[in-house]
Amino acid sequence: MKITEVEIFLLDGGRPTWRPIVCRVHTDEGIYGCGEACLAFDEAAHGAFGMLREIAPMVLGRDPMDNEVLWDHMFHDSFWGQGGGGVILSAISAIDIALWDIRGKALGVPVWRLLGGKRNLRLRAYASQLQFGWGDGMVFDKGYRAEDLAQSAAAAAAEGFDAVKINFITYREDGSRWGFLRGPLSLETKHIIEKRIRAVREAVGPEVDILLENHARTDRVSAADLAEVAKPYGILFMEEPTTPMLTDTCREIHQRSGIPIAGGERVYGRWHFLNLFQAGAFQVAQPDIGICGGITEAKKISDMAHAFDISVQPHLCASPIAMAATLQLEAVLPNFFIHEHHVTARSQANRSLGLYDDQQSAGYCTVPDRPGIGQDLSEKAIRTALAHVTVREGD
Ligand code: MG
Repeated sequence: MKITEVEIFLLDGGRPTWRPIVCRVHTDEGIYGCGEACLAFDEAAHGAFGMLREIAPMVLGRDPMDNEVLWDHMFHDSFWGQGGGGVILSAISAIDIALWDIRGKALGVPVWRLLGGKRNLRLRAYASQLQFGWGDGMVFDKGYRAEDLAQSAAAAAAEGFDAVKINFITYREDGSRWGFLRGPLSLETKHIIEKRIRAVREAVGPEVDILLENHARTDRVSAADLAEVAKPYGILFMEEPTTPMLTDTCREIHQRSGIPIAGGERVYGRWHFLNLFQAGAFQVAQPDIGICGGITEAKKISDMAHAFDISVQPHLCASPIAMAATLQLEAVLPNFFIHEHHVTARSQANRSLGLYDDQQSAGYCTVPDRPGIGQDLSEKAIRTALAHVTVREGD
């Protein structure tokens, strides 16, 4: 089998800052595979789209079944791959996911079978990013008050979720963005944060786990202060307390607070993860399958995490293509922890990009048995794409 062309799409996800980047890798046997570069939001979407155009020629004419060989080729021979940046690794991820999709389709089996077998039949899921509401996708600059957060958390719990993740420091009390919180935190700030966490705890009761999302918008001191405020309310983990480029701060915050630290959505490739694992940065690793290097790399990172007694919750904020690939990986991991069900995954605009709508039910996901990653672009996704290019041999 030979790769003949790569289609690249910039999809319309229903709002200006949601533009999933998806590729379809075609072969001379009529089989194609889908992959995603998971930089749909904020400022990198066009970068990933352009990077895919740059890197696609590297796999043209090659056998898609040689996915490990092609991964090494893209990583080492692109020169910039070895720097481990998000844009190039996301492009490699998209191609890699598509190659796994092709392999599964060619053999008539789901990717989870190629990865060693489905051991997790039902995936516990948490409701993610409730500071943006819990409706049909994200809402901005409203819903930040304690009573709003409590209402969203209660709504998720009523659907069956027994874990919710919230960034309690996205907005000030007047609704403006808080930005970056540098420590030490003032008493006023601590009181605002505590009021919000307490409201959520009271709304969901004692049995629902609360996950703290910081988006690396705190520093070593403010994150430790926040952890101290939150700890009495029962926190499952704190995510990205600081930039992951500082390898020792997460360990320090964990040691001071006792709260497990999660991170990894802005970490690229196995070597960067190794540095963080060795530094004791994370108790929960969150590689993003569409950023860290694809299914190939996410599996290696997850297995390495296992050797460090670190559990894995793949980061997931993407179109149905990366969601499908993530489910395939989660099905096989012995150290799988919990699935992220992002509020964007609920939006009709995002769901309509996929051929199949594999939503969670009562707080749990199941993994499809369709060949490959078990997902494809819908006709609507292709028809409404904001940009679409095809890279062929000789172009
Ligand atoms: Mg996060």
